[in-house]
Amino acid sequence: MDKRETIPFVDLTAVYRRLRPEIDVAVAATLESGWYILGQQVNAFEVEFAAYLGLDSAVGVASGTDAVLLALRACDVGPGDEVITVSHTAVATVAAIELCGATPRLVDVDPDTLTMDPDRFRSAISARTKAVVPVHLYGGPAGMDDILSIAGEHGLVVIEDCAQAHGARLGGQMVGTMGDAAAFSFYPTKNLGAMGDGGAVATSRADVAERLALLRQYGWRERYVSAIPGYNSRLDELQAAILRVRLRHLDEENDARRRLAAAYDAHLAGLPVTRPAVLSEDRHVYHLYAIQTERRDDLRAHLNACGIGTAIHYPVPVHRQPAYARLGYGPGSLPVTERAADRVLSLPMYPDLPPDAPAMVAGAIAEFFDQ
Ligand SMILES: *Cc1c(COP(=O)(O)O)cnc(C)c1O
Repeated sequence: MDKRETIPFVDLTAVYRRLRPEIDVAVAATLESGWYILGQQVNAFEVEFAAYLGLDSAVGVASGTDAVLLALRACDVGPGDEVITVSHTAVATVAAIELCGATPRLVDVDPDTLTMDPDRFRSAISARTKAVVPVHLYGGPAGMDDILSIAGEHGLVVIEDCAQAHGARLGGQMVGTMGDAAAFSFYPTKNLGAMGDGGAVATSRADVAERLALLRQYGWRERYVSAIPGYNSRLDELQAAILRVRLRHLDEENDARRRLAAAYDAHLAGLPVTRPAVLSEDRHVYHLYAIQTERRDDLRAHLNACGIGTAIHYPVPVHRQPAYARLGYGPGSLPVTERAADRVLSLPMYPDLPPDAPAMVAGAIAEFFDQ
């Protein structure tokens, strides 16, 4: 292969080209409506997305970070409270916990699934713990059975971070329907992506849905009168119009991701890399296809030289990032997370990735290990 990137890590123009007739119509109709903030596109998207999940409500907000923040606030989590989550996640999960005024408590992950280790969660619970935020990482569900039962024993609020797992299921149940509320991001690369920023909180708790509707717009129940202190965190009409189109294609796109992952699994079998662990009851939606190897950096350089794009999710665990040093987790404090940060490598994965790409990528990986 030549030096040009022949297999990009992700290609959002391919999504646009495929859906262009529908997206262009939706965008033009929204522009012509003259109504750009909290109107019929957002209302319709909220109804359709809640129905997709099988929940009573979804509330559109400005981003996934805000979705976690507002879900916590709507469940009355704030200053003085501790919230348990993982360090092996997008920094947004932890940033949102601090934005609501609570203190993040970071725990290690299971070495196979790289999602929250329920035993570590249990040991981190203190008298101040108010909530837990499990993250369904890479499109794979966290071990919710244990997490929910531990949270239930301690009366904790459960906010699922579903930013990477739109449409994933655990034992047939949709992720996002298991806790008090679920936070979704519609960042463009996510399985359900907008063409700008966006997010939503989904819930079947009527009290939480009602508080969310207030919180996202200055605490207004009635225009110009703030019933509670709120934020400005709105999903805009253009993004909602685009998301309505993309939601109609989410299941077929997730199926395409799952077929690509199966091809990767088949072609990587026998090579000295760890493939993503999938529990039998999971419907994984492969937001990312992350392998693990001790020789990650050299393999990445080799793939790059072969024109294959890769990424690392995440190279520096949240607890080792400069902004979070003050949380007091030293090197070695979350060993499974730190080991994963040195070993994970995300291979090209997006619904429009050509079906023969996994074989080509696996071929380049085999070549690396044969050298
Ligand atoms: C992307 C992401 C977020 C944040 O979403 P934004 O829309 O970028 O604010 C939160 N949590 C996880 C796990 C994510 O992957």
